[in-house]
Amino acid sequence: MATNREIPSDTKTRKVRPHPTQNEALLFEKSAPGKRGYKLPPLDVPSVNALELLQDQCRTQYAELPELSEIEIVRHFTRLSTWNYAIDLGMYPLGSCTMKYNPRVNEFVARIEGLAEAHPYRPDAYAQGFLEVLDLLQRCLLEITGMDAITLQPAAGAHGEFTGILLVRAWHESQGNPRKKILIPDSAHGTNPATAALSGYAVENIPSNAEGGIDLEALDRCVDEETAALMITNPSTLGVFESEIAKIAEILHAKGALLYMDGANMNALVGKARPGDFGVDVMHLNLHKTFSTPHGGGGPGSGPVACKAFLEPFLPTPVLMRKAGTEGRGTRDAGTDAIAEELYWEYDRPQSIGRVRAFYGNTGVLVRALAYILANGPDGLRQTTEDAVLNANYLRKKLEDVYELPYKTASMHEVVFSDKRQAVNGVKTGDIAKRLIDYGFHPYTVSFPLIVHGALMIEPTESESLDELDQFVAAMRAIAREAEETPEVVKTAPHSTRVSRLDEVQAARKPVLRWRKRERRD
Ligand SMILES: *Cc1c(COP(=O)(O)O)cnc(C)c1O
Repeated sequence: MATNREIPSDTKTRKVRPHPTQNEALLFEKSAPGKRGYKLPPLDVPSVNALELLQDQCRTQYAELPELSEIEIVRHFTRLSTWNYAIDLGMYPLGSCTMKYNPRVNEFVARIEGLAEAHPYRPDAYAQGFLEVLDLLQRCLLEITGMDAITLQPAAGAHGEFTGILLVRAWHESQGNPRKKILIPDSAHGTNPATAALSGYAVENIPSNAEGGIDLEALDRCVDEETAALMITNPSTLGVFESEIAKIAEILHAKGALLYMDGANMNALVGKARPGDFGVDVMHLNLHKTFSTPHGGGGPGSGPVACKAFLEPFLPTPVLMRKAGTEGRGTRDAGTDAIAEELYWEYDRPQSIGRVRAFYGNTGVLVRALAYILANGPDGLRQTTEDAVLNANYLRKKLEDVYELPYKTASMHEVVFSDKRQAVNGVKTGDIAKRLIDYGFHPYTVSFPLIVHGALMIEPTESESLDELDQFVAAMRAIAREAEETPEVVKTAPHSTRVSRLDEVQAARKPVLRWRKRERRD
C-alpha cells in the first residue's frame, strides 16, 4: 500500500507499516461449497434421518454458514487479531476510559475452575467459597470508598448510575416526594444526563467556573425543594479535583437533596481520599477501569454502587448477608461434611428497588477486581494512584508548550489540551488523533469533554513506563511540528492502515453487510 507518510527520523517513535494481511476477505467471501474444518470417523451406528425424526422442529434449509478448512479459519482470525490495537501492544491513552494494563494474575485467578464454572443457582451452602470472594470484594470496596453498603449487580458504569439514581428516587419517595430534577455540571460524562432522564428526572445544567470546578453560587441558586440530587464526576472529566466538594455536599443536604458521585475516575483517588468522607451519599465504581479488567468494545464491565446506610434498604435484591457470629472463610463444620452456611443471599427486602441484573453481577470481572486489589494491597493501590497522577502531569509538562492547556488547575489522572494552536493551520483534534495511529499509538479521547472546544483528552494511567511516555511525547511533538510544516499529512492521516478516513456517519447509518450467496452441494 502506498503511503505519503513522512515521519521525521529524529523522533523515537515507532513506525507502523501497513500489515500485509490487511486485505483479508470476509469468511463468507472465502467460503467454497463442501470445504470442511473437521473430519468424522465412519458411522458405527445405524444412520437416522434427522429431518424425519424432528420434523417441524428442524430447519428445512441449511443455514447459510461459510464453509472453510481449519487453517483458513485459524488464519482469518489470527490475521484480524493483528489489526487490533491493544494495551498489551502499547499505550492506550483514551482519556476517561482508564485503559490500564490487566495483570496476568487476574486472568489466572478468574480461570480457577471453582470460580469460572460455578453455577449461579448453586445453593448458598455449596457456594460459600464464591460468596466469600464477593463478600471480601464488597468489604474492600467499602473501605476504599468510605461508604456503608454496596451492590455488585450493575454490569457497567452507566448501569451503576441508573441503579444509584433509582436508590435516590426510592429514598425521596419514602420521604413523601420523589422530587423533579437532577443537577449536572456541564463537564459531565454523557451517561449522567441520560441516567437522570431515564430515571424520570428533568436535567438542569450547572456551569463550571474558570478552574473547571462547580460554580458554587450557580449551584446555590439551582438547588431547591424539587432537586433530587447533583451528579458529579470527581475528579471531573477535565481531570480536575473538585476542591469545594464538602461545601457542595452541604449546599445540597441543606435542601434535602443528595450527592451522587460518578466514581469512574476513582483511579485518581484510591488510597488517597474517600468519597464517603467528603459528603457523597451514593456513587458507582467502574471496576473495569479502576480495577484493571480489560474493557472496550462494549464489555464486560462492572459498576458496583456504594451508598450510605440510609440508602441500604433500597439496594437491589438479593443482598449478600452474613449470619451473625460467623466470620470464617467457608469453613466446614468440625466433624461433619456439612459446609457451614455463613453467607447467604437475602431476597426479602420490602423497600428494595428490585433486581437490576440477572444473577449476581459479572462475576468474572468481580474476581479480577479482587485479585487486583489483593495483589496490590493498600500501599500498592495508593502507589497506583500516585503513579497515575504523576504520569498525567508528566505528559502535561512535556506537551504544554506545543498544545493549548485551557484549564491550568493541577491535573489528576488525565490532562485535557485543546487543538487551538493547530486549528490555525486547519488541523483539528481528530486529525492529530488519527495521525497518532501512524506513530503506533491508540488515539486519545477526541472532542470530549464538551466544554473544551477541540479537546485532546489524555489519560496515560500508571501502567506506562517513562520510556513509553517519552515515545508518546515524541510522537505528539512530531505531530505538532507537522501541523505547522506539512498540515496536509496530518489532515489526511492515517496513512499506515488499510483504510484511512471512513465516513463514520454513513458506516453507522448504512452498514454494508456483504455476503455471497452460494449453492450447497449436498
Ligand atoms: C466510563 C465512564 C462512564 C460510563 O461507564 P460505562 O462502564 O462505559 O457504562 C461514566 N462516567 C464516566 C466519568 C466515565 O469515565
